[in-house]
Amino acid sequence: MLFHRRFEHRYPRIVRGQGASLHDDEGNVYLDAVGGAGVAILGHGLEELATQAAESMRHVSYLHGTQFTTPELEAYGERLVALAPDNISHVLLMGSGSDAVETAIKLAYQFYVGKTGTRRKRKVIATQPGYHGATGLALAVTGKPRDRLLFQGLLHEQCFVPAPDGYRRPEESGEACAEALERKILEEGPEDCLAFIVEPVIGASMGIGVPPPGYLQRVREICDRHDIALICDEVMCGFGRCGEWFASSLFDVKPDIIIQGKGMAAGLVPLSAVYASRTLVEGIHRDGGNFAHGFTFTNHALSAAIGLRVLEHVERHGLLAHVRRQGESLRERLRELTAFSWVDDVRGLGLFCGFELVADKATRRAFPRSVKLAERVLQRAMARGGNFYFSIGYLPDGTGDSILVMPPYNVTPAELDQLVAILRDTLTDLDPEVQ
Ligand code: PLP
Repeated sequence: MLFHRRFEHRYPRIVRGQGASLHDDEGNVYLDAVGGAGVAILGHGLEELATQAAESMRHVSYLHGTQFTTPELEAYGERLVALAPDNISHVLLMGSGSDAVETAIKLAYQFYVGKTGTRRKRKVIATQPGYHGATGLALAVTGKPRDRLLFQGLLHEQCFVPAPDGYRRPEESGEACAEALERKILEEGPEDCLAFIVEPVIGASMGIGVPPPGYLQRVREICDRHDIALICDEVMCGFGRCGEWFASSLFDVKPDIIIQGKGMAAGLVPLSAVYASRTLVEGIHRDGGNFAHGFTFTNHALSAAIGLRVLEHVERHGLLAHVRRQGESLRERLRELTAFSWVDDVRGLGLFCGFELVADKATRRAFPRSVKLAERVLQRAMARGGNFYFSIGYLPDGTGDSILVMPPYNVTPAELDQLVAILRDTLTDLDPEVQ
């Protein structure tokens, strides 16, 4: 028997999807306001993509990335690098955000082993909150203690610094958070620090965290000063989700390594990417020739072929501009929901949006976790035919509830109306229980 995350739970059995809607085998329809967690960026049932994927499947089944390449793999790599910041020269395709994070850290490590001739640089600094994945290295740098707790014994100890939080600590500017990073580097010893990994716009771990202006640029300066790699994890916020191909470009930073994932293949197949700077690649090439890392499905030809079609589709239909426009309009509509006494701080960029559920707006006090408010919102919304996403437990005391809304890039204004209406009805329904 297949097992799911929750052993006992009965999940809706989806038999068909069309646009932003999913249909289950009992005739229920769900408006998919999140596409998994920002994965189905073109919605569901896109005939054109399915035909192109089937065509690619007919050519070859599989090629090992260390033995062969294909025209589509090469073309996709060229296109991705051409869209990336100009210090990026290469890209490696992976299957998930977590394995891309592992890859990024190993890439930085191999570079610095060659550059310094020592293995001292191995501490990775990350933000709290922050999410980077579920595998060993990725979980070790995930700033969500509740995710790490059970597996702590298996993980290497890494270092954390606070991420900017414009809602609860507005007085603590990006400058203060950047200074905290520099203090941490000096405390740990720059010669022992390998990298700083950061989500340019934080996603799943805090219900969207847009950094204050200047923060990432200061971070870039600090990483340069102490010769540590800046890794931008754009698995959730990148590839158009915030309205540009690269979220780091929105803040004018050029990371040494960028990671993307989620919607790169619109969810048709697993696909993620690790982009590396010219300096890193040339350094590794000079020192030893090859990057000592790879998976069976690295540079997967079919995933690349589908990724290329998705990229072309987004470009051809001008979807990044659509994401920016519809994002503004979505946040405007979500702001109407702050009329509820327990809904606050609608935030985000592009179609990467979220809002807080709080017990007291004046003090920004969260609900006790035992209330399980975000879970209840999602459950009731699902019963009303809306699929949303949440972040929970991201505050230092383990509280924190927020709701994420990440519709497909081709969402229509009518679908936005519908998803906000489902949310409004859900909140109205819960209001007497929450007051
Ligand atoms: N990095 C970020 C920013 C993420 O949001 C996620 C997943 O949500 C990951 C990494 C891990 O990606 P995956 O779940 O594909 O392994």
